Amino acid sequence: MRRLLAFLLITAIVVAGAVWLADRPGEVTIRWQGWRADTSVPVLLAVLVVLVAALSLLGRLLRLVFGAPGRFLAARRARRTRKGYVALSDGLAAVAAGDSRQAAKLARRADKLLADSAVTGLLSVQAAQMSGDADALRSRFQAMTERSETAYLGHRGLMDQALKAGERKAALDHGARAFTLQPGAEGLAAGLFELQLEAGQWPEAALTLATARRHSALTGDDPSRLRALLLFARAEAAQASGDTASALSLAEDARDCDPSLVPAVVLAAALLGARGKLRKAAALILSAFKTAPHPDLVAQWAALGPNDSALERVKRMQKLVEANPASPDGHMGLAEAALAAKLWGQARTHLDKARDQRPTLRTLTLLARLEREERKDEAAAVAWLAKAGEAKPESAWTCGSCGHPASVFSVNCPACHAAGRMEWR
Ligand SMILES: [Zn+2]
Repeated sequence: MRRLLAFLLITAIVVAGAVWLADRPGEVTIRWQGWRADTSVPVLLAVLVVLVAALSLLGRLLRLVFGAPGRFLAARRARRTRKGYVALSDGLAAVAAGDSRQAAKLARRADKLLADSAVTGLLSVQAAQMSGDADALRSRFQAMTERSETAYLGHRGLMDQALKAGERKAALDHGARAFTLQPGAEGLAAGLFELQLEAGQWPEAALTLATARRHSALTGDDPSRLRALLLFARAEAAQASGDTASALSLAEDARDCDPSLVPAVVLAAALLGARGKLRKAAALILSAFKTAPHPDLVAQWAALGPNDSALERVKRMQKLVEANPASPDGHMGLAEAALAAKLWGQARTHLDKARDQRPTLRTLTLLARLEREERKDEAAAVAWLAKAGEAKPESAWTCGSCGHPASVFSVNCPACHAAGRMEWR
């Protein structure tokens, strides 16, 4: 309808124009280089219209001829892109189907056709992961680090690869790069902190902790515990280098950060004891023993009185037991002191209490010793030792990540390197 109206309108304008010209006849004369042409105005107008139409036709023809190669190339590019995306989607389907060879083949094809690593990167990475081709995976991640959009993923991937290969230094470098790009990434801060602690990079580890706290990136980890761990690691390093003043101050800071970090309390108490500050050392141990009893605290408590007589040692141990009567460690310490002082009744009472709470091989051995020393009763001693099969295992520092047991506390697990996972159980 609209087209019909337009057609009628144009026809009306043309007819009106023709009538207007017919009503106003005139002549035109053109002289040029000895030529002369006489004509009327309508004829001249008609010639001009034909000339414009011919020029426009010529222009179109030229564009058609000279634009052909460009159009051909653009069409070829579009075809390649289309094929590339088909390879990409087929490759992702192959990954989903678990066909690693097909996925790798299609990843290479998509890579060639699309020539855009940001688009094909994911498929190539997944294909390399499935086929277990570590070198291909590594070079793919390396390529990803060179583009700002994928740099974080590249460094994170390289960090994981280095960890798997046991290359802790390379893992640390890539972890640090990834962390500067995405400090809030899940699990990254804890992994990096662990590597930095292990490498003795104290300022860097402190910075990681502070940044991770700002980004709430420490899910599942207690930041105070991690800070205490860092301070304790620094205290141990200072002590190893002979700087006991710094070691003491750092151990005390670690203990203030996390009062249940027994090794920090033990180290601080030992260093205080060595400086003659026995009262302060004793207060530290008693306070820790109330909430986190441990045999190392018992040993350090005894070490505060190296010249104690047997009876003095018993009195000292009584004080510790009063601080936490529920701990079998205190009763064991007191029973041993009582045995040494030949206070048989007291030794038996506390060995019984320790056995009630946690019957271990050490408890049974001390009970057997008591039977031998007090009553010379070999049969009773053997009877205690015969119960060894029912004894509960002695507590040990055990890694919460891999279950590795150790007799001595360490900041990083000796087996899996996890930081702050050694628990006394
Ligand atoms: Zn472990």
